[in-house]
Amino acid sequence: YCAATGAFRSLRPAVPLPPPDAPLSLPAFVASLLPSPLPAHPAFLDAATGESLSFPALLSRARALARALLRRGLGRGDVAFVLAPAGLDVPVLYLALLTLGAVVCPANPALTAAEVTHLAALSGASVAFAVSPTAAKLPPGLPAVLLDSDEFRASLQSNEDGEDIASVVVRQSDTAAIQFSSGTTGRVKAAALPHRGFIAMAAGARALFERSSPGRERTLLTAPLFHSMGFAVVLRGVVREQTTVVVTGAVARDGVKGVLAAAERWAVTEITAAPPVVMATVAKDATCSLRALERVMCGGAPLPVSAAERFRRRFPGVDLCMGYGSTEGGGISRMMSREECALMGSAGRISENVEVKIIDTATGKPLGVCQNGELLVRGPAVMSGYVGDDEANAATFDSEGWLKTGDLCYIDQDGFLFVVDRLKELIKYKGYQSSEQRLIISCSAAGVPPAELELVLQSLPEVVDAAVMPYPHEEAGQIPIALVVRQPGSKVTEEQVMDHVAKRVAPYKRIRKVLFVDSIPKSPAGKILRRQLTNYVQFGALKT
Ligand code: AMP
Repeated sequence: YCAATGAFRSLRPAVPLPPPDAPLSLPAFVASLLPSPLPAHPAFLDAATGESLSFPALLSRARALARALLRRGLGRGDVAFVLAPAGLDVPVLYLALLTLGAVVCPANPALTAAEVTHLAALSGASVAFAVSPTAAKLPPGLPAVLLDSDEFRASLQSNEDGEDIASVVVRQSDTAAIQFSSGTTGRVKAAALPHRGFIAMAAGARALFERSSPGRERTLLTAPLFHSMGFAVVLRGVVREQTTVVVTGAVARDGVKGVLAAAERWAVTEITAAPPVVMATVAKDATCSLRALERVMCGGAPLPVSAAERFRRRFPGVDLCMGYGSTEGGGISRMMSREECALMGSAGRISENVEVKIIDTATGKPLGVCQNGELLVRGPAVMSGYVGDDEANAATFDSEGWLKTGDLCYIDQDGFLFVVDRLKELIKYKGYQSSEQRLIISCSAAGVPPAELELVLQSLPEVVDAAVMPYPHEEAGQIPIALVVRQPGSKVTEEQVMDHVAKRVAPYKRIRKVLFVDSIPKSPAGKILRRQLTNYVQFGALKT
């Protein structure tokens, strides 16, 4: 901690990065890190079918596809909207697009057509990649390539020379991916992440791999491939020469049960997951033995200390490694050694090459060790900004380029970060009750944006006003609940309100409870006073 600047620097050794001005794409950098000859074991394994993709096949298919897409006229800066379920073609597609300098813009295939249309417009997409069932949700007029078409499959195999992808110049500052996030306000926004950020992530993961020289690792990726966490784990798996087992098809549909069965079946040594998967391993009726498991990488939301304690008792030989980050800020902290993993409640130490600050939320002044405040982050993996949203960018970055995370945190005297609360409005719904097991796969790390749901609620004629807020829930972590002001004399019921929303949004965004109230507390500027909403409900002032 530097008292003069108020910044905390990483305690980890800095990882050297390529000079920032050198033209370099993420795939070229990744290829430079891998040994020659390439590893013989699979780079990816489909958890449902057992189909695998070797390292040479991953790279050669990506090059063949890049060539085919270049011939179709796709190039640097073109935004490619990806609406596809998890599968082995997805990492190939990502690598091919990144090779061309095109922008990978993945979205949740569970979204409705209206949501997809909105996101495609927000990102400025000029082409889409989908599968037959999801293609119907794309806006008319957006050219689409189907991943399940013969033409696409043929383009993965082609050996012909065609136009030379080697002549494509990609700069590290070019946008590699656009990922959708609600950030610190409820509205969904398109976060632009440069090649440089992923290059830094890859360099960090590789440096650690070379220092620790682990044996052959097999990691189970439960986070969705369209989410920043899935993206990061895919990248990390490749540069660490791991086999990444991708949760797909029937395994995904079985939710947490499917995930745990896949972990056993494929004898994975590592699971990367959001907290509900960890909680499922220690549930009363859990029967998994997870014999090969050495490490669980857990992040995306807080893990209750009681669950962490139970996990450590049940799997004493397995490291439970917490990490914290965000779409906009990249990987901010994580645990690394066995000693670090033993610390309960922390989200680990600040990652290499990352700087953070904790500021007083009222005065904006930097705070010191063990003081609660908003966490700000600076580093190579921070987004370059939200696409076409100057207002959100001005609210998210301070004048010195620090990104505000919207998370209330403190750092203790040993450099461990603790995430205390979320200042922002995002609701982290972790639904995995029996009827919704499968949601955890696609939505475990996804946030539910209240402002979006409020608009949907207000479109109901009998609703005068509405606010959506998180409500603590034992299994799901948080559920989105709605406070609704009805028209005088209206008899609209809780079920009718919930149905209205359910028909218009993806399943994980559904309102799980409605409380009818007389008014919604608002600031003079008309902004919902969200902190007051929480107090209202906690103190029982609201009656259904
Ligand atoms: P996303 O951009 O969807 O990855 O969401 C990022 C947000 O998830 C962060 O800003 C935090 O609010 C929350 N989050 C991520 N990891 C953790 C963690 N280990 N503990 C508590 N909250 C977390």
